[in-house]
Amino acid sequence: MTQETGGFAALDLNPNIVAAVLATGYEEPSAIQQQSIPIILAGHDMIGQAQTGTGKTAAFALPILNKIDVSKREPQALILAPTRELALQVATAFETYAKQMPGVNVVAVYGGAPMGPQLRAIRNGAQIVVATPGRLCDHLRRDEKVLSTVQYLVLDEADEMLKLGFMDDLEVIFDAIPASRQTVLFSATLPSSIRSIAERHLREPKHVKIQSKTQTVTAIEQAHLMVHADQKIPAVLRLLEVEEFDALIAFVRTKQATLDLAAALEAKGYKAAALNGDIAQNQRERVIDSLKDGRLDIVVATDVAARGLDVPRITHVFNVDMPYDPESYVHRIGRTGRAGRDGRALLLVTPRERRMLQVIERVTGQKVAEARLPNAQAVLDARIKKLTSSLAPLVAEAEATHGELFDRLTTDLGCSARALAAALLRKATNGQALDLAAVEREQPLVPSFTPRGERTERGERGERPERGDRERRAPMPLAEGRVRCRTALGARDGIAAKNLLGAILNEGGLARDAIGRIQVRDSFSLVELPEDGLEKLLSKLKDTRVAGKQLKLRRYRED
Ligand code: ADP
Ligand code: MG
Repeated sequence: MTQETGGFAALDLNPNIVAAVLATGYEEPSAIQQQSIPIILAGHDMIGQAQTGTGKTAAFALPILNKIDVSKREPQALILAPTRELALQVATAFETYAKQMPGVNVVAVYGGAPMGPQLRAIRNGAQIVVATPGRLCDHLRRDEKVLSTVQYLVLDEADEMLKLGFMDDLEVIFDAIPASRQTVLFSATLPSSIRSIAERHLREPKHVKIQSKTQTVTAIEQAHLMVHADQKIPAVLRLLEVEEFDALIAFVRTKQATLDLAAALEAKGYKAAALNGDIAQNQRERVIDSLKDGRLDIVVATDVAARGLDVPRITHVFNVDMPYDPESYVHRIGRTGRAGRDGRALLLVTPRERRMLQVIERVTGQKVAEARLPNAQAVLDARIKKLTSSLAPLVAEAEATHGELFDRLTTDLGCSARALAAALLRKATNGQALDLAAVEREQPLVPSFTPRGERTERGERGERPERGDRERRAPMPLAEGRVRCRTALGARDGIAAKNLLGAILNEGGLARDAIGRIQVRDSFSLVELPEDGLEKLLSKLKDTRVAGKQLKLRRYRED
């Protein structure tokens, strides 16, 4: 392994940043990090294109932290993110990576929270401001100088910001930041609207594109399961009950996750061990040898630690955490099915990772079918099957060696053969649940998801929207004092959220803050507006036309 000399340490970052990153359990920079960090450190403008989940946050956060002058207590870096959730995520990531850099202050600025404390936090010396464009523009209206010291600007998820209608806000923000700034733009896609922003506002940007080459996968049986992030360990335990494996390798993203899962497996009696970059080379070789010769059956590894691992006994690969890219997925599952044996690969997918699953399917040209977690009946059947097969060889021989003892015990205990056999079974199975009611009791149902493509609605069994999973989130409850209004104009009329927003702002004379969520559906749209003064507002908008058609906004009563 080479991460002692390569990896984050080789990136020319401040040692305190490297230490904090390693402390969070990252072992190696992801591809987008590896390529972007040197470019940003060198001061170039940059356009980074990569899918969700490839590690874009650290790709800009680490070099920016490296550039911050902690002794200056004024905004130096501005990160724009499309939603409140993402802004908070990015702000939290900055705080994590800056854990060992005292004096770094991060402030998150987003709508739906009072403006005063946000502005005070900026003025009180936050060097890093993470903001949604709408709210930031509100602040600019109050204080046009608030961004005048910013030197680094990042547009995170630029395509999403444009989809949400923030184009005009972005222009205002660009104008409020000194032209000498360094600008970095990250986006999963680069539509022409983004290219045109880049042409106007970036200076000779370097391009980084993490693109997946087509991969061929050998004949390994693959499936995926939808689970919540916090249900992964119970899901793995349940799957292991029914999967007939010889040796298994489970992949996770961090050192801590290798330890957590290995401990959970050992507690259930599996012969399992963790394999991560902290483990010394000789110990690592011992783990692999143990897996080879059967002293271990399960190894929980990070990608780095599993490098070069080749154990023919491996029948199963569990992708407990999503790989960073399809190449590494293909690489991981190639650990099974060695030497012409059968292999099986399972992938756990959390809500926000669905897109990565699609990328994997596209790149490998194969569908990864959806599987369901086994229910209690399946777990019970598997347990009884294991018990049966462990007894089968004994049934043929044990009567000769233990038959007389059995007769004596029935006599001594004065019980039936059935009663004695039952007592022995209970002893042999060591309290394991072996009837349906008991299995159900010990295994609370792990919530899973409705299949891909189906819209999930709030309140559905097991559905818990995850932070950052904004596309699939069910309609948000209305904020206090807001009502929903409806227009019969929708996507099929060529309407986008920004058109509605623009029209209502201009003709209704409302502040950006007053308008809540805008949802554009195919044949209608919903807009959240203040209840106070609604009648007046609707009459002001009476003749408003959007995309050449009458808006006809009406209060919408849902029940
Ligand atoms: P993106 O912005 O590209 O969607 P994120 O920056 O949100 O991706 O990162 C996705 C997940 O991967 C996060 O949980 C993050 O902590 C983790 N992560 C990022 N970089 C690394 C790394 N080098 N090693 C391990 N985990 C990482
Ligand atoms: Mg991101």
